[in-house]
Amino acid sequence: MSDDTESYGFDTLQIHAGARPDPATGARNTPIYQSTAYVFRDAEHAAALFNLQEVGYIYSRLTNPTVAVLQERIATLEGGVGAVCCSSGHAAQIMALFPLMQPGRNVVVSTRLYGGTVTQFSQTIKRFGWSAKFVDFDDEAAVKAAIDDDTRAIFGEAIANPGGYIMDVRAIADIADGAGIPLIIDNTTATPYLHRPIEHGATLVVHSTTKYLTGNGTVTGGCVVDSGNFDWAASGKFPSMSEPEPAYHGLKFAETFGPLAFTFHGIAIGLRDLGMTMNPQAAHYTLCGIETLSLRMERHVENAEKIANWLENDDRVDFVTYAGLKSSPYYKRIEKVCPKGAGALFTFAVKGGYEACVKLVDSLEIFSHVANLGDTRSLIIHAASTTHRQLTAEQQEAAGAAPNVVRVSIGTEDCDDLIRDLDQALGKATS
Ligand SMILES: *Cc1c(COP(=O)(O)O)cnc(C)c1O
Repeated sequence: MSDDTESYGFDTLQIHAGARPDPATGARNTPIYQSTAYVFRDAEHAAALFNLQEVGYIYSRLTNPTVAVLQERIATLEGGVGAVCCSSGHAAQIMALFPLMQPGRNVVVSTRLYGGTVTQFSQTIKRFGWSAKFVDFDDEAAVKAAIDDDTRAIFGEAIANPGGYIMDVRAIADIADGAGIPLIIDNTTATPYLHRPIEHGATLVVHSTTKYLTGNGTVTGGCVVDSGNFDWAASGKFPSMSEPEPAYHGLKFAETFGPLAFTFHGIAIGLRDLGMTMNPQAAHYTLCGIETLSLRMERHVENAEKIANWLENDDRVDFVTYAGLKSSPYYKRIEKVCPKGAGALFTFAVKGGYEACVKLVDSLEIFSHVANLGDTRSLIIHAASTTHRQLTAEQQEAAGAAPNVVRVSIGTEDCDDLIRDLDQALGKATS
């Protein structure tokens, strides 16, 4: 395959982008380079690598050839210029914010986020002296009003877990542009097959590769993709990117690396000093999974649409939040944001509240009760008693995780089997 990725379609790129037969052995699949360190050709080569004058491998906390293939694969699928993989989706979020933030700075974030992200942003980042301002992203005036002189980014999920909320990414990107700050989109639940945030104006895209990109629940991982479109030097707000960086002997990343500045910073400082590195085994599993991303997503969406419709018409169910339903307030955004479908993640409310939800979860046979999503297997969780347990009642409600709702991640099994399973379990839960 030539390196001209523009001319290939998504299905081709998800298999080939970034990979080539191994130059040493001809191995067709990307080998797992299970090596911590790489031999320098000579002292001059070593110095050039450490000066970032030459790109190559030094030590696997920074870069690894297997991980590098995955980085290029994800960057290509997202339409970015570069990507840095890391040990988990949560690590990716810290890695995305780290070059932008300092003590006293804040990030404006959507109220509709993964439960763990709400905790990371509302509690843990305070230890770094950072803070997050939670805003309803449907209220554009409120998003604008939340931005102040210390705001360094806006953060939201394209298709928000758990409620299936669809964000108007372009509208929020325009607000970020107006304020001269980057928009970071967590694209985990949409995947680049359903939505490509950079085409809608996002600066950075983060992923939990743990989910759909790997696809079968084997490894945790994360990724930060850079669009290469942001001018880090324009405002003076991002000194770590535009000014001499003391942590890298005074290197000016924006000036030296241009559109690749964020990616180089992520490796040379982020991975070097924070150490949240993806291991080559994890990259291998994710590379295997990502080859079938579009095929899986098509089936995930097809099953989710059928099941959401079936549930909506069942009188044991109070409501279904899936944006792919005509009754959803977000249905009108699908065509603009994710025309191939609204994903496969949604919640539904069971008549009988908290008790019925717990009974439903315990009665299902094919659906697994786990704290995960984006698996080929269908998964269910009662968020209020698990993932969203640490949140206040208002935060639970805002995140779409009230006590009477369960979240499902619809898998790629036979849809009729999944509906039969839900039918019998709803019977037990509401009898
Ligand atoms: C799972 C998830 C995360 C966190 O990713 P980990 O790999 O579990 O650290 C972040 N955002 C979303 C939307 C997720 O689903």
